[in-house]
Amino acid sequence: MAQKRLEGKVAIITGAASGIGEATARLFASHGATVVIADIQDELGTAVAASIGEDKCSYVHCDVTDEGQVESAVRYAVSKHGRLDIMYSNAGILLLSPSILDLDLSDFDKVLSVNVRGTAAALKHAGRAMVAAGIRGSIICTASVGASQAGYGPAGYVTSKHAVLGLVRAAAADLGRYGIRVNCVSPFGVATPMSCGIAGMTPEVMEQVTSATCNLKGAVLKASHVASAALFLASDESEVISGHNLVIDGGNTVINTASLQAIEQACN
Ligand code: NAD
Repeated sequence: MAQKRLEGKVAIITGAASGIGEATARLFASHGATVVIADIQDELGTAVAASIGEDKCSYVHCDVTDEGQVESAVRYAVSKHGRLDIMYSNAGILLLSPSILDLDLSDFDKVLSVNVRGTAAALKHAGRAMVAAGIRGSIICTASVGASQAGYGPAGYVTSKHAVLGLVRAAAADLGRYGIRVNCVSPFGVATPMSCGIAGMTPEVMEQVTSATCNLKGAVLKASHVASAALFLASDESEVISGHNLVIDGGNTVINTASLQAIEQACN
């Protein structure tokens, strides 16, 4: 590896026992960061941390819906490693609900509790630790293409991801005076246990389906692409970027493919 981009930095990643968070934990550690995985899947999270290496990564149980557990995870990172430079609030869930007409409001609450409340708690307690130590840190959240458009999931999920984007912008406004940056990454369909489980697809089929709807020919979205985007936002390379929504979608959301095709057909 040419250059380590997070040498000496300490990072917490929520939801890093699996999927995008796991890929990011591995990438951050390979770039010199000391990583704390905060998740509710204890066995998996402990195994991922062990496979990265005891000196580079540890696991802490943290249900992000419980503010006290988020605060404890931050306290754990600071007392074990002396500082917190990066918080990547990535934990999220998606519960199926076919239409607003059939909305299950207790599922709606559950999704908002993890995706929105959990993100708010991560922003609050990571921000407090960074401000107290005078650290010009970087906070990253996982939003989604569903943060800007509907059609990428049920109402509860789309609502929650719009709220994550709002939280990112609000926190960037509040924390800018301390030199703390707040940004989010917004993936389109990446084959992970969450997305494949909900869609009932193998990773291969999931990748074919999402690749076929990307405007960018040949784009196959992977967790590693999201991890690379998070690495950029965590590193000093993005030192003047805050309040940004970095979309990782193969051109899916900014190009209206249906209109494009209709216009092309009409013109031929
Ligand atoms: P995943 O299921 O592989 O990972 C999600 C992780 O979050 C799991 O390890 C899970 O245990 C953890 N988690 C769930 N509830 C938690 C809680 N209450 N407290 C702590 N941890 C909890 O799925 P993923 O696709 O890697 O999802 C990661 C993030 O990416 C989520 O925020 C998701 O909404 C977002 N996202 C995913 C996609 C995609 O296509 N996979 C697209 C856009 C956004």
